[in-house]
Parts: sequence; C-alpha cells; structure tokens
Amino acid sequence: MMQHATPDAPDAGGERKTAVQCDACQSIFTAEIDGDGAVFLIGMGDQCNCGGTEFHRFA
Ligand SMILES: [Zn+2]
Repeated sequence: MMQHATPDAPDAGGERKTAVQCDACQSIFTAEIDGDGAVFLIGMGDQCNCGGTEFHRFA
C-alpha cells in the first residue's frame, strides 16, 4: 500500500480511481486500483464494511 514504485507506468500518476462492487454485500465504492491490481477503497483501505475483501470493477 505504501509502495510508490511504478515499474511499468512511465508517467501515470500512480493509482487510478474507479468504482468497485463488493462481492459479498454488493455495496459500491470508489476505489483506487494499484499498479499490480490491488484494490484500496477510498477512506477504508482494503476491506469493506461487511468484512469482504473481494471486489470487482463496477464501472
Ligand atoms: Zn461488502
């Protein structure tokens, strides 16, 4: 999460904001997708309110 190295992102700003949906409770969040595909919910980290940690892109 704290890594800032972006090996294959020449001049991207790092994270990309997108909408994701929790697989467990179907809640939709704004999240940042890391360069390696890790999902971080804005203001919540990597876990949903329901405890779910599996998300898929919603947009
Ligand atoms: Zn959830």
